[in-house]
Amino acid sequence: VGDEDAEYLVSLIRSIPGFPKEGIVFRDFMPVLADARALGILMNALEAALPVDADSFDLVAGLEARGFLFGPALAVRLGKGFVAVRKAGKLPPETVKQSYDLEYGQATVEIETGSVHEGARVLIVDDLIATGGTANAARSLVEKCGGKVVGFSFVMELLGIHGIESLGDCPTSSLVTMP
Ligand code: AMP
Repeated sequence: VGDEDAEYLVSLIRSIPGFPKEGIVFRDFMPVLADARALGILMNALEAALPVDADSFDLVAGLEARGFLFGPALAVRLGKGFVAVRKAGKLPPETVKQSYDLEYGQATVEIETGSVHEGARVLIVDDLIATGGTANAARSLVEKCGGKVVGFSFVMELLGIHGIESLGDCPTSSLVTMP
């Protein structure tokens, strides 16, 4: 995308200090989705910035909840299926689960058994990567199913907390970096 389009996209990302709790600056991309021009720019940019060739994956896996908002649209564009990586307790059985550590406590993500088949090649997408904990848990989940994560695609990346580095040498793209 050109500079003007990139600037327009970034101008619609809202930053809300202190939400959902003290010390966090919440980055809200809902206004991007609500704006026809910005949404078009976003989808073109995600496709143009794919971390790997579109031929090298079969499925797009979106992380709850904001990865669900553009993951299926990206999958349709690329002719792929979409798999929802959900927070624990939302999906009917059978599911595959993966727990991971948060700053305080633990969280669990799940996918429906059979949605990622043995040998499936998967691109994981989410709105934002912070520590990388969620993205890494999603990758472990895909691997438990016998699939392989070939890349990660994010709209936003928080700088200074090494989220992308935590993903190791897996190809990764992010459109906007934020402090
Ligand atoms: P992490 O597991 O630390 O990489 O956190 C990533 C997940 O938490 C993503 O699903 C994001 O949507 C959400 N998240 C973390 N930090 C923020 C933030 N500052 N603003 C908006 N969403 C965030």
